[in-house]
Amino acid sequence: MSNVCLITGGARGIGAATARLVAKDGMAVAIGYRERADAAEALAAEIKAAGGRAAPVKGDVASEADIISMFDQAEKALGPVTGLVNSAGISIKSAVRDFEAAALERLMAVNVIGLILCCREASRRMTSGGAIVNISSMAAPIGGRAGASAYAATKAAVDSFTTGFAKEVGKRNIRVNAVRPGMTRTDMTAHQLGDPKIEAKLAETIPMHRVGEAIEIAEAVRWLLSPAASFISGAHVDASGGGFVIGDRWD
Ligand code: NAD
Repeated sequence: MSNVCLITGGARGIGAATARLVAKDGMAVAIGYRERADAAEALAAEIKAAGGRAAPVKGDVASEADIISMFDQAEKALGPVTGLVNSAGISIKSAVRDFEAAALERLMAVNVIGLILCCREASRRMTSGGAIVNISSMAAPIGGRAGASAYAATKAAVDSFTTGFAKEVGKRNIRVNAVRPGMTRTDMTAHQLGDPKIEAKLAETIPMHRVGEAIEIAEAVRWLLSPAASFISGAHVDASGGGFVIGDRWD
């Protein structure tokens, strides 16, 4: 069986950290990217220089045609896809009274419909089994921090879909799990964690009193993709420093 993992949002953040780790484990990595060809190409070159196999694959997960194309590009460059990490995601921060329909539609298109269609594509193509990890969020079980209720709702959809999808494809030896990161240092959170005062306030709301690093989330993803997790499916793994100290707000 080939050992090829497609990672959406693979050029940056949690996706890129995962690509580096699983490449070391011997997986060939298809690095999904939407715009940042430079970052995807640089990461592929880094993995190849270290003796691994990698290829950038371009596509917007809000486009069904692009999703199909990303799988085709991955298969052509590396072979049949046996692993999928859905890390592509966006967030919006807004009070509900200020929501705009177009922004909500984009949020759902990327975080929910795109992720589900990537899983559909994997389900069609993983004819000899496989492993899928959906990047959810600790926002899901708590409804998000202030202003993140819509984002949290998309991640709750990811959790529920993961549970149902895992039941559907279990007998085909396809394992499906979710990882729920807490606040993690990536481009997505740079606007908050770029300010040490805000970071300190956020850290107070996390039982371990610090935010996470992308590699700490990637380690959980790596385990779920690996044969070491061969009987783990339908799980939601929290990688969150203990969750949230409910009641504290940072704004
Ligand atoms: P990030 O911004 O570094 O990475 C997100 C990636 O998704 C980027 O590479 C971006 O280009 C890609 N992307 C966005 N829209 C896309 C689209 N339409 N098509 C293809 N790619 C697209 O942020 P990150 O923190 O690494 O986020 C990875 C995942 O982790 C996301 O699903 C996010 O919701 C989730 N998450 C992050 C945190 C955190 O604190 N950083 C916490 C919980 C969950």
